[in-house]
Amino acid sequence: MIQVEIDKGSGFCFGVVNTIRIAERELGNTGTLYSLGDIVHNSLEVERLKKAGLQTINHDEFSTLKDKRVLLRAHGEPPSTYRTAAENRVTIIDTTCPVVLRLQQKIHKCYRETRDKNMQLVIYGKEGHAEVNGLVGQTDGTAIVIEKTEDLGRLDFTRGIMLFSQTTKSLDGFREIEEAIRQRTAPGVTFQSFDTICRQVVNRLPGIKAFASSHDWVYFVAGKKSSNGKILFEECRKANPNAVFISAADEIVTPLPPGVQRVGVCGATSTPKWQMEEVAIRIKTLNNLPPA
Ligand code: SF4
Repeated sequence: MIQVEIDKGSGFCFGVVNTIRIAERELGNTGTLYSLGDIVHNSLEVERLKKAGLQTINHDEFSTLKDKRVLLRAHGEPPSTYRTAAENRVTIIDTTCPVVLRLQQKIHKCYRETRDKNMQLVIYGKEGHAEVNGLVGQTDGTAIVIEKTEDLGRLDFTRGIMLFSQTTKSLDGFREIEEAIRQRTAPGVTFQSFDTICRQVVNRLPGIKAFASSHDWVYFVAGKKSSNGKILFEECRKANPNAVFISAADEIVTPLPPGVQRVGVCGATSTPKWQMEEVAIRIKTLNNLPPA
């Protein structure tokens, strides 16, 4: 009989757990709350909280609000968001993840200490990603964001460089960028790099690889915009070519191929457990398996 197993190591990281817990508490008290941007990169979880009264707004809408309560998600925000809130008497419910907060503070400190020293602050991350915007904001918008080695042409290798990483980027990608900068930096020029990748993501890699390789077929569940979802899925696929990326249970429309006996369901740090459970139920329904 086909076995369906949900990966115990998958699901919300503590940063996301904290954000959702605070949002649910606020919604329980008042029945309504604004969230600046999607509370988590998972559209079904956003939809669930919307039904409970959570209203997602963008930065333009945020700037027009007055006397409201607005949740800042785990990704964090730049200082300009806090200034706007203060000007408009908006109460901030700040759920910035402590890991992101520490990184913001570190970058801000480095910026203050080096801004008169011709130093370039560089962030390895995704241009326009909410966390990256919050990090760039710590440097008055001066930090340079690079996503790949092809972007390194934007750096001046005769000036000092400090390299940081978005918390959810891949460690391998960071090491590659770090090495490429090291090789190009002119002799005698300062280059400091800080591995600021969150261990909630890195530490899941061996576990998810082992989980994927111990199953014949794997459904990896995550939102399409999830950065760590992309990294974790890549690892799953390397370990098991029969790994399939889905964002919702109803994307599975056919039974499993013949011969599959062990099916795994896993996901990202932004994937709720209830969603992986829905996927497991869907697999069982399509393959005529008993529910429990
Ligand atoms: S992945 Fe890490 S940095 Fe991002 S929210 Fe989770 S715990 Fe915080």
